[in-house]
Amino acid sequence: MSFTLAIVGRPNVGKSTLFNRLVGQRLALVDNQPGVTRDLREGAARLGDLRFTVIDTAGLENVTDDSLQGRMRRLTERAVDMADICLFMIDARTGLTATDQVFADILRKRSAHVILAANKAEGAAADAGVLEAYSLGLGEPIRMSAEHGEGLNDLYAQLMPLADDFAERARADAPETDVTIDEDIDADEAIDENAHRPTEARPLQVAVVGRPNAGKSTLINQIIGEERLLTGPEAGITRDAISLQVNWDGVPMRLFDTAGMRRKAKVQEKLEKLSVSDGLRAVKFAEVVVVLLDAAIPFEQQDLRIADLAEREGRAVVIAVNKWDIEEDRQQKLRDLREAFERLLPQLRGAPLVTVSAKTGRGLDRLQAAISRAHDIWNRRVPTAALNRWLNGMLEQHPPPAPQGRRIKLRYITQVKTRPPGFVVMCSHPDKMPASYTRYLVNGLREDFDMPGTPIRLHLRGQS
Ligand code: GDP
Ligand code: GDP
Repeated sequence: MSFTLAIVGRPNVGKSTLFNRLVGQRLALVDNQPGVTRDLREGAARLGDLRFTVIDTAGLENVTDDSLQGRMRRLTERAVDMADICLFMIDARTGLTATDQVFADILRKRSAHVILAANKAEGAAADAGVLEAYSLGLGEPIRMSAEHGEGLNDLYAQLMPLADDFAERARADAPETDVTIDEDIDADEAIDENAHRPTEARPLQVAVVGRPNAGKSTLINQIIGEERLLTGPEAGITRDAISLQVNWDGVPMRLFDTAGMRRKAKVQEKLEKLSVSDGLRAVKFAEVVVVLLDAAIPFEQQDLRIADLAEREGRAVVIAVNKWDIEEDRQQKLRDLREAFERLLPQLRGAPLVTVSAKTGRGLDRLQAAISRAHDIWNRRVPTAALNRWLNGMLEQHPPPAPQGRRIKLRYITQVKTRPPGFVVMCSHPDKMPASYTRYLVNGLREDFDMPGTPIRLHLRGQS
């Protein structure tokens, strides 16, 4: 129940680096056999709970210049034809080249599924290259650093729905596969940015995190239970060790079950190691993170840490306060909660706070609505013209500072990514911009374009 991913692109963009990262130690090296040119490498790859075959079109570096074009084309075409999905990689530092265009043409003609990755994108030096990649017309590029392991989460997010499709097709001959937790995925392996081309029926990825006994298992069982009532036993629910897919009020969602992950870990006798990082893992793989609090002991240190982590990782956050059924003075309690939320988590301003009872099911409809809305906001794209009209207004209302008598000029703003929304402002002396002015802009974006509760990234870039 697997698929094949080919990594294609011109030499030196970082294909092998990504290949090695996906394959790790598990490389099934096809040895150099006489008469066989070893220019396509194949390996068994893992990314999160995904297992697939990866093909690397390496081996081009030794080719002399005049034959490069022809061989490269043939090799790439072969890889593309062998693969279910192609990852087309460009180098964001050098920007697009004529050779990249040759590859893009091949892919447009021959490949059903293309995922675009702008590699070497660590740091601001790559911003322009990432922007340029849009012009290939192959969708929104993943901002990637194969070397530093950035962008793998977004790669996972793009592969997941396609993998589901392939799994669907192969299900007949491969009944149940128990998926184990990938021990190799850790903090630096998947971070950051990006977006994806819209895919129909792609499940919204939700992690439910919170302290032990907050009610995570009860909540997930309640969601499954309600679905069962609506759709019959087990219908529409597929489950593996760490996630389950469900149609919650008609919205396909994949829920990452951290409590389930812990149970699984127990079996593997790695309880200690995993219980520390299971919340972290779930955050990495989620689009929306539901921080589940116990109403009796809300906003404990551990809750604050995970909420802050989710924000820093650029995830949409929904705060759910559980065990609301045993609260007595609900109005007073709600005021206290809101006050504590604003004071303790200012970085999540405007994020929804929903009261629920996992036990009785009260409030779950509101939780579902909050998750869907948070996801919409997280995906929002604001047109460039509207942004620049807005920027002019902001500048008039509150002109930028003039350190050492030279006013910082803000020339242009554009949204470079979604999930979460990210913006680039072209300006003079970005290094002299005080944080307070950047905050003014971010808060303005949040208010004026109605993006409460989602992390907003704003990058300043100098004119080159
Ligand atoms: P390939 O020819 O496309 O397979 O490229 P390689 O994987 O051999 O990488 C080419 C060069 O780019 C090597 O020196 C890598 O170390 C470097 N490289 C790969 N990925 C990154 C990255 O994310 N950032 C930076 N700065 N360098 C990278
Ligand atoms: P987990 O460790 O986060 O998965 O928490 P559990 O789902 O195992 O729940 C811990 C305890 O809290 C159990 O005794 C549940 O019955 C109880 N519990 C969970 N949700 C609620 C709720 O909404 N109301 C009440 N009163 N108890 C709850």
